[in-house]
Amino acid sequence: MQFQQIIGQTTLKQELIQEINSGKIAHAQLLQGPAGYGGLPLALAFSQYLFCTERSAEDSCGRCASCQKVQQLQHPDLHFVFPVVLSIGKTSDLFLSDWRAQLQQSAYFDLFNWTERIDTKLRKPIIGTEESKEIIRKLSLKGYEGGYKIMIIWQPEEMNADCANKLLKILEEPPAQTLFLLVSEDASKLMITIQSRTQLIRVPKIKTDDLSTYLQEVKNQTRTNADAIAAFADGSVLSALSYLATSEDQDQQRDHFIQLMRVCYKKEVLAMMDWADEIATIGKERQKLFLQYALHMMRQSMLTNYMGDVLTKVSSEEAAFLEKFAPFISGNNIREFMSTFDAAYFQIDRNANARILFTQLCFQTMRYIHQA
Ligand SMILES: [Zn+2]
Repeated sequence: MQFQQIIGQTTLKQELIQEINSGKIAHAQLLQGPAGYGGLPLALAFSQYLFCTERSAEDSCGRCASCQKVQQLQHPDLHFVFPVVLSIGKTSDLFLSDWRAQLQQSAYFDLFNWTERIDTKLRKPIIGTEESKEIIRKLSLKGYEGGYKIMIIWQPEEMNADCANKLLKILEEPPAQTLFLLVSEDASKLMITIQSRTQLIRVPKIKTDDLSTYLQEVKNQTRTNADAIAAFADGSVLSALSYLATSEDQDQQRDHFIQLMRVCYKKEVLAMMDWADEIATIGKERQKLFLQYALHMMRQSMLTNYMGDVLTKVSSEEAAFLEKFAPFISGNNIREFMSTFDAAYFQIDRNANARILFTQLCFQTMRYIHQA
């Protein structure tokens, strides 16, 4: 993967390139941020740049023998460790063909996408004890190509304590020309002793404009649509893509939201019950998307109130609705609204009874809307 294939992250890319060109490369680095921000693609581009024999000041060449080996995930000095389902196989090597297939398809994916790929039963993958032996064995070998050996550990927070403990020594005193790139979604879940041996690199949100450009150029979205989705995705390309995948549902979500606000405003109790009954049948994933959508529209309403339409990124249908709706979201109720919808999301995710939950949500919404 080349840096130019990465969505956004201009500043961080420059810092990583600068790190390599300065020759002062920290031997253990921890990239941390949600999967949709692009930590893994950055680690891959960083590795390719380091191995490239014809790199420029901006990027790897993409054509030399080293680049090709990295791109095909066949470079002998580039190693991968990731969580696996232990009852299927104990080390990452046994899942390499799945790993390659995933990376060929996209380097943007999360632990759930990965679990779906490797186990139809969706058992939780971890990095187990056997893996630490493999890591130490591989890194004690001499590099094949005479340069760096890179060990990319994806989702190191899924390591069990035994594996983590066995790695402490090699992280502290690695063999010469060894580079650890840990790619984590949540570094706070890592043992402190691992954290303290690595240099933390925060992977920030992808800028909304960069996400929008990506959606227009790669996913053929119109400017307005791309802007609306990018604003909703809040820095994560995975959120943008999952929203896009359900974009046929987009109109439905908007209608559900408008309907909810309308019946609650008019205090039509029977219509509220009907609304709750209907949304109870659309399934958990769509319910979660609806709640996310509602939170997004509330944030946009606040922006509309405080800044006019200057900063809001919504489609034209949504803008028409917001113009009428925004006055009902104010400093008097926004906190209650957000925490209620947030809590509903959390409970739906944990399989709460949807009918009861959405009925309660209606009554709460009715109360808040009249507090504005
Ligand atoms: Zn190259």
